[in-house]
Amino acid sequence: MSLYPASARIRQAAALVGVLVLYVVTAKLGLRFDALAGVATTVWPPTGLALAAICLGGRRLWPAIFLGAFLVNAGTGIPLWATFVIATGNTLEAVLACRLLGLLGWRPEMDRVHDVLVFALTVLLATAVSASTGTLAIWLAHIPIKDGLGLFWMVWWVGDVLGALLIAPALFAWIIRQPRPTSLRLRFWVEALLLASGLILVGASVFYDLFPLKIVRLARGSYSLWPLLIWAVVRFRLRGTTLALLLVSLVAISGTASGHGLFAGGTLAPTAHERLFRVQCFMAVTAVSMMCLAAALAERRQAILARDEFISIASHELKTPLTALRLRLATALRLLSAEKKESPPGDRLDRPTRAVVAATATTDRLGRLIDDLLDVSRLTAHRLELHLEEVSLPEMLADLASRLREQAAESGSTISVTVESAQLPLVGVWDRGRVEQVITNLLSNAIKYGNGGLITVEAHGEGDRVAISVRDQGIGIARADQDRIFRAFERVESPHRVGGLGLGLYIGRQIVAAHGGTLRVSSEPGRGATFVLDLPRLAHPPA
Ligand code: ADP
Repeated sequence: MSLYPASARIRQAAALVGVLVLYVVTAKLGLRFDALAGVATTVWPPTGLALAAICLGGRRLWPAIFLGAFLVNAGTGIPLWATFVIATGNTLEAVLACRLLGLLGWRPEMDRVHDVLVFALTVLLATAVSASTGTLAIWLAHIPIKDGLGLFWMVWWVGDVLGALLIAPALFAWIIRQPRPTSLRLRFWVEALLLASGLILVGASVFYDLFPLKIVRLARGSYSLWPLLIWAVVRFRLRGTTLALLLVSLVAISGTASGHGLFAGGTLAPTAHERLFRVQCFMAVTAVSMMCLAAALAERRQAILARDEFISIASHELKTPLTALRLRLATALRLLSAEKKESPPGDRLDRPTRAVVAATATTDRLGRLIDDLLDVSRLTAHRLELHLEEVSLPEMLADLASRLREQAAESGSTISVTVESAQLPLVGVWDRGRVEQVITNLLSNAIKYGNGGLITVEAHGEGDRVAISVRDQGIGIARADQDRIFRAFERVESPHRVGGLGLGLYIGRQIVAAHGGTLRVSSEPGRGATFVLDLPRLAHPPA
C-alpha cells in the first residue's frame, strides 16, 4: 500500500505530465531559434522550465524532464544512446542547480539582489554540465559540426544560460504570489500597452532595421532599450521586468537570426553563430542587470514597509505604559489637591504639585509625538478614516486659540482670530478632530518659530470653500525648504534647538488632502510665515 493518499498521487502524476508536455512544447519553440546540429540553440527555454519545475515542485519531477529531453532529442536524428546522454545532462543540470541554490540560501521570490546574483552564478555553473555532456555525446557520435566543437559547446552553454535567465525568473514571478500592484485600473493597462509598444518599436529599430534612416542607424545601440527596461522595472516590478526581457529577447534574437539589425553587420562576427552569440551575451547581461535593479527596488520597498511596521508597533507599545502613567499622575494630582484643601487658602501651588503638573504636561507632549507616529503609519498603510460632522469654524478657531493662549504667552506671543464671510454662519462638514489637529500644529509651529510676535488667524469663506490662514512674524522659511517641510521627518536646521519630529505638516497636508483641500506656505526668511489651509465646505475626499 502506498504511503501517499490517492489525491496526492493524482496531483503528482498531473504535475509530471504537465511538466513533460511543457518541456516538449518549449523545446520545439527553442529549436526554431536556429539550432546547431539540430540540438544546440540560441535560447533553450526548457532549461528555465526544468529549473523552475524542480525548484518549485521538488526533485520528484526529474522523470518528466528526463523523458521530455529524451523525446525532443530523439527526433533530431542523433543515435539513441547519445540522446540518453544528452537527456541525462539536461536533467542533472536542473537538479544540480536547485541543490546549489538551496545550499546558498536562495529564495525563488528573487526580491533580494543576493538571490539574483546567486541565481546567475549557479546557472552559469550548472548549465556547463549539460553543455559538456551534450558536446561529448555529439563528438562520440561523430556528428559533424561546421563551426567546430568549441563554438558548439559555447552556443549550447549560453543557450541554456539564456533559457534559465529568461524563463525561470518569469515562471517564479508569475507562479509565486507577489504583492498586489498599487492599481489595476485602466491607467495601468494603458501604461503597460505603451511600454510594450515602445519595446517592440525600439527593439525592431535596433534589431530589425525598422527605420533604415542613417540618423537612426547612427544613434541606435543596445542602450536605446535601457530606459524602457528601467521603466518596466520601476513600474511593473519583477513580473513586468521578466515579460519585458522576454519580449526584447524575442525581437533581438529573431532579428539577428534573420540577418538584420545592430549585431548582424560588421566584421567582428562574420558567421551567423558568432552574431547570435553576441545577442546572447547582450541578453544575458541585460537580464541580470535589470533583475538586480528590480530586486534592489524590492529590497527598498521591504525596508520602508519594515520601518512603517516598526513605527506602528513601537507606537502602540509605547501608548500603553504612557496611558497608565497619565492615570497615575492624574491620581497623584487629585490626592495633592485634596491635601491642599486642608492647608490655608491663598497658597500658591506647592513644589510637589508643580512637579506633578509639569510631569503631566510632559506626558501630554510625549502622547502627541506618539500620536503623530501612529498617524504616519496609518497614512502609509492608507488607513486614515474621516468622521465627518458639521463644524462651526468661528467656534472652533476661538476654542483652539484659547487652548493655546497660555503656551503662546510663555513665548511672548499673542493670538488674534478674525473670521469673515458673506454667508453666515461659517460652517463646514469635516472631521472635527482632524481639522483641529492641523490648525493646532500650525499654531504651535507659529508659537515655536514666531519669535514671540503676533500670530494672526484669519478665516475667509467664499462660495463653497473656506480659507484659513495662520501668520506669524518669526524666522520664516527659505524658498528651497518650502516644499520639503511637507514631507515626513523633514525639518529645517535652526540655530535654536526646537523639538519636533518633522511630521506635523506632513500629516496636516494628508489630512487636508483627504478632505479635498490644500495646505500651502508662503514665507521669506526673517519675515515670518503664512500657512494657508483651503478646504471645501463639504469634505469630498479625492477619488
Ligand atoms: P516639527 O515642527 O514637529 O518639526 P512640522 O512638520 O510641523 O514638524 O514642521 C516641519 C518643519 O517646518 C519644522 O521643523 C520647521 O523647520 C519648519 N516650520 C514649520 N512651521 C514653521 C513656521 N511657522 N516658521 C518657520 N519654520 C517653520
